[in-house]
Amino acid sequence: MSAVCCLCRPDQWYDWRWQFRNRLRTKEQIGALVKLTPEEEEALSQPRFVVGTTPYFASLMDPEDSNCPIRRQVIPLAAETLRCPGSAADPLNEEGLSPVPRIIHRYPDRVVLLATETCHTYCRHCTRRRRVGMVERSILREELDGAVGYIAAHRQIRDVLISGGDPLTLANGQLERILAAIRAVPHVEIIRIGTRAPVTNPFRITPDLAAMLKKYHPLWINVQFNHPKEITEASARACALLVDAGIPLGNQTVLLRGINDSVEVQKTLVRELLKLRIRPYYLYQCDMAEGIEHFRTPVARGIEIMENLRGHTSGLAVPTFVIDAPGGGGKIPVSPQYVVSQSPEKIVLRTYDGKLVEYLEPQL
Ligand SMILES: *Cc1c(COP(=O)(O)O)cnc(C)c1O
Repeated sequence: MSAVCCLCRPDQWYDWRWQFRNRLRTKEQIGALVKLTPEEEEALSQPRFVVGTTPYFASLMDPEDSNCPIRRQVIPLAAETLRCPGSAADPLNEEGLSPVPRIIHRYPDRVVLLATETCHTYCRHCTRRRRVGMVERSILREELDGAVGYIAAHRQIRDVLISGGDPLTLANGQLERILAAIRAVPHVEIIRIGTRAPVTNPFRITPDLAAMLKKYHPLWINVQFNHPKEITEASARACALLVDAGIPLGNQTVLLRGINDSVEVQKTLVRELLKLRIRPYYLYQCDMAEGIEHFRTPVARGIEIMENLRGHTSGLAVPTFVIDAPGGGGKIPVSPQYVVSQSPEKIVLRTYDGKLVEYLEPQL
């Protein structure tokens, strides 16, 4: 993928701040790059949609094909205004599980810390669209003190996930203040960062950033590649910098109708991820968030995809398919059924390619 750009000098294209500052946010800016359909034009004219993408991510859009998987993640459609039964602004009850601002505490031993409402690209399928991008705000000093105070006061918290928004929209110094404050809590064992920067603004991953992150090990990063088209020379280089800094990378894909809801796309994606040394972690059933109904697939589609991954490709490439429980119960794994029948004496199973086998229970 060449860096096609008539707006910048060649050195600016590779500067993450230039990419961030020059995010495309209007119908005119996006329309200059792709041939908009009437539906896209209409949605882009609605001021209430939060739209924005880096010139880099925009350059991956197909100018002619409105079904382009990048385009569908970036350009809104009028369907986002539909309010379907069962959908909610906060489908996972994150606000209800927030004991102090910017902390979500759903599981006993780990919390999410929301570092910012800003992103390099505003994904059309965002589950946190009720707040992300509405105001481009980041964590305030007193909010950080409150959040870290909460973590320090709860000794069972051994894992802190920094999320947002995209924490890698923060400058290294801001991010380091957060990491240092969390690391100073003795009972915190691991820190995780959730970010799409390697996908949507890969130039954010600089040697300086990797060197800074390295100081806060054990640190894990989860990224979100949704389609093989997002894997480019630039994104591969970004991931290599992180992995070479000793940071294990996991991937969380959202299953999206018309974008990646086929066995072929998912199989290619997970294989390509392994080549980048990224472990596919979760495949998410799309949440019941308001405005993203048109992205949801039947649950059976996810199960079918899992069925066609397990055994058919490296076990390392197989994510766990989960539904994040509506109402906030946590992530629930949903899997094809491999147990055919079960008695006290034996269990009958089926193999990935459909053969029946018996496993006898212990006789002693
Ligand atoms: C997803 C999530 C986690 C982390 O879940 P893991 O299964 O440990 O990756 C923690 N807290 C909240 C609120 C989450 O949504």
